[in-house]
Amino acid sequence: MRHLALINQKGGVGKTTSAVNLGAALALEGKQVLLIDLDPQANLSLHLDHTLTAEEPSTYSVLLGNNTIEEAIRPTTTAGLRLVASNIDLSGAELELASAFGRESLLKDALTRWESEHQAKHGELPVDYVLIDCPPSLGLLSINGLLAVNEVIVTMQTEFFALQGMSKLMEVFELIRQRMNPDLKICGILPCLYDSRLKLAREVLAEIRKYFPDQVLPRPISKNVRLAEAPSYGQTIFQYAPKSPGAEDYRALARAILEQEVDATEAAAPPDELPEITLRPQAPDPAAKQAPAPAASDVTER
Ligand code: ATP
Ligand code: MG
Repeated sequence: MRHLALINQKGGVGKTTSAVNLGAALALEGKQVLLIDLDPQANLSLHLDHTLTAEEPSTYSVLLGNNTIEEAIRPTTTAGLRLVASNIDLSGAELELASAFGRESLLKDALTRWESEHQAKHGELPVDYVLIDCPPSLGLLSINGLLAVNEVIVTMQTEFFALQGMSKLMEVFELIRQRMNPDLKICGILPCLYDSRLKLAREVLAEIRKYFPDQVLPRPISKNVRLAEAPSYGQTIFQYAPKSPGAEDYRALARAILEQEVDATEAAAPPDELPEITLRPQAPDPAAKQAPAPAASDVTER
């Protein structure tokens, strides 16, 4: 069983979109998947059309110890894909749990208990994959995410500020690995919202590959308007637009993640020193005059 957290303290870099659609792609490959919404914004829950009332079991009530994971699990419309949903109450958790004993490992403890009880009762683990969608911060909730997993996927947007903040994220990752979760490793760095028509995006992708030569996942997730539209219908990309380039990107990502199971080589450690952003705008592309680059807001429609 693999536990993965989708993380980056930067907002809007594709964590939730990737959690939903990677989870769905793995489920379509026959895996049993549990998604955990660890973000008070509850975007993952909304994406899958789950809006909780304050009384319903949620990530928040699990962290508080008021519900078990088993009680909080909800089915989705994709077979094999289940969810522990979140709501705005979770925003109070960082403060409320600040003095709780073992506050960093509340999610890990809840997951361990669920798995061992299921194993004792049914003779097998409950799911093949747990995917945790972290909030855009490095506070107590994200720390709970990092302690509850053995692998992280760092999503990054291929834009000018992509590498800014990565050294902080890697510092926190290393600290947690050294002090609290020695098994933690990077499953992969996933460039998202990539527009190959833009010179800047291609340059940033090259920079990301330069800094993380062994860790960048083989295929970036391209910008695709279908991926942005799917949440408003409460659907995964495979329900909303199964033939879109976005669906194909997430199918390919799932295959890459599944291949790692076969190719059980150790994931490389993060680089020792990561300089702060060094990417500088380059001289204008002379070709750009003949064929102007599309605006950054342009997305592939198919
Ligand atoms: P936050 O940090 O706020 O939780 P996030 O990192 O989870 O954000 P998402 O919510 O996945 O990021 O994506 C940000 C926005 O970009 C959303 O509106 C989403 O629909 C859109 N989006 C994500 N990936 C793509 C893509 N590949 N193509 C087009 N739009 C995308
Ligand atoms: Mg999100």
